[in-house]
Amino acid sequence: MSDKSERPNLYEKMLVAVDLSKDSRRVIDTAMRVGGAEPESQMHLVHVVEPVAAAYSMDVYAVNISQLQQEAINTAKQRLGEVGRKLNLPENQVHTLLGSPAPEIRDLAAKIGASAIVIGSHGHDGWKMLLGSTATNVLHGATCDVLTVYVGEEK
Ligand code: AMP
Repeated sequence: MSDKSERPNLYEKMLVAVDLSKDSRRVIDTAMRVGGAEPESQMHLVHVVEPVAAAYSMDVYAVNISQLQQEAINTAKQRLGEVGRKLNLPENQVHTLLGSPAPEIRDLAAKIGASAIVIGSHGHDGWKMLLGSTATNVLHGATCDVLTVYVGEEK
């Protein structure tokens, strides 16, 4: 068996999916412990802002959908940016995207050449299991390892 120092880090580049809830800390902590310290392992963070539903015209209520959407993106960028700064991550490793979380996370992982996606899981049961969690949906079609971090039951 080879000496530990000869073995390369298991995951050189990890993409950590962050929903900006209090669970995020746990997911990031686990990623840091798995990946080891910089510069051996590079950590990227991603948060995906879901499109504001526009199933029917809100004009009658004088709601400006694109303004609401932009505000959501700005708030998410600011909050994810704070998390990234606390971890001393360069800005180009902190990604705020717009779309459907699972495909966006998978596509970004492929684009940056991540060797693993790290994502939280609640261990849903019942109808939520049938619908599929974000982690389950990321797993289907992922082209790298996916590490799920149990973050407890959903409140
Ligand atoms: P969920 O299955 O939606 O309860 O989410 C479980 C995990 O998926 C979270 O702990 C995050 O790691 C990830 N996740 C959920 N929503 C998002 C999002 N909008 N952007 C990035 N990651 C997310």
